[in-house]
Amino acid sequence: MDKQKTILAVGSIALDTLETPHGTRQNILGGSATYFSISAGLLAPVKLVGVVGNDYPEEGWQLFQSRNINTDNILVENGSTFRWGGKYSDDYSTRDTLFTELGVFENFSPTIQEADRLSPLVFLGNIHPDLQSSVAKLTPSAEYIVTDTMNLWIDLFPEKLKEVLKLSTILLINHEEAEQYTGQSEISNAASELLSAGPEIVVIKKGADGACLAQGESRHSVPVFPINQVIDPTGAGDSFAGGFMGYLSQASQPDFLEAVIVGSAMASFCVEGFGVESLLQATPTLLAHRVETIKNSMVEKV
Ligand code: AMP
Repeated sequence: MDKQKTILAVGSIALDTLETPHGTRQNILGGSATYFSISAGLLAPVKLVGVVGNDYPEEGWQLFQSRNINTDNILVENGSTFRWGGKYSDDYSTRDTLFTELGVFENFSPTIQEADRLSPLVFLGNIHPDLQSSVAKLTPSAEYIVTDTMNLWIDLFPEKLKEVLKLSTILLINHEEAEQYTGQSEISNAASELLSAGPEIVVIKKGADGACLAQGESRHSVPVFPINQVIDPTGAGDSFAGGFMGYLSQASQPDFLEAVIVGSAMASFCVEGFGVESLLQATPTLLAHRVETIKNSMVEKV
C-alpha cells in the first residue's frame, strides 16, 4: 500500500436530534465533519477544521481522540454548538428539517494552521458555501478538493455554490439535489451540467439505488451493499464521502469507480444504527468484505 495522504476536512460538528420510524434520539454526536472523519479515519489520517461551542460534550472530544482525528484546527467558542433536528417519514423516503440552530457557526471563520494548508486532499463538507470557498482558497495546492452540499444551500445561495464548484475537483451530490440545482431530472444530463460547472468528476448518489460516477462522457453505476434494515440514514452522504476520500488517500493512481464502491460500502455501515453508533463498528476488514460483495454483484450483472 502507498503512503497515505492526509485529508483536511471542514464541515459541521453538531448535536443532532433525530426522529425516525425506529425511535428518537436527542443531542447525539453528529454533523457532516463528524460522520466524515470517523469513516475517512478508518483508512487515512484526518485533520478537522470546524467550530464547537463550550457546551460541546467531552464524549465528542474523546471520540476524535480515540480515532486519531486531529482537532488542532477546531475552534472552541463561547456559545452553543451547532444543533440540527430531522424527522424521517414512515418509509424513510423523505426527511424534514425540524430546526437548525447555528450557534457558534454563525460567526465561524475557518482558520487552518500553515502546515495543514498543504494537505493534498481537502473535503468541503456540507456547510455554508462561503465557508467552503474560504477553505478551498486557503488550500490552493490540494490535488483533490472534494465537495458536498445540501438542498438548503442550493435553495439559498446557488450563486455562491457556483463559486465553490469552480474551485472543486470532485462533487458528491444526491439525486434530488442534482435535479434541484440543474433542473435536470435525468441523471446523466444533470451530471453533464454539473461537470460543466467546474468539477472533473461528479458522483450522483441515489440512496438505495446506488450511485452514478460521471467523468467526461463516461457514466458508471455502482449498487449499494444490501443491509438488513435501515435504522437512521443521517450522515450516509458524509460517510460515503469518507470512504471515497479514504480510498483516494491510499491510491497513487486512483480508480474512481473503486472510490465510489468504497464510499458505498462505508455508507452502508452508517445507516444500520442511530447517529455514529454503527459506523463505529466498521473495521477495515469488514469494509473490505462489503467492497468485495458490491464488486461481485456488479460482475453478476454484466
Ligand atoms: P446527511 O444525512 O448526509 O445530510 O448529513 C446529516 C448531518 O448534516 C447531520 O448530522 C447534521 O448535523 C448536518 N447538517 C444538517 N443541516 C446542516 C446545515 N445547514 N449545515 C451544516 N450541517 C448540517
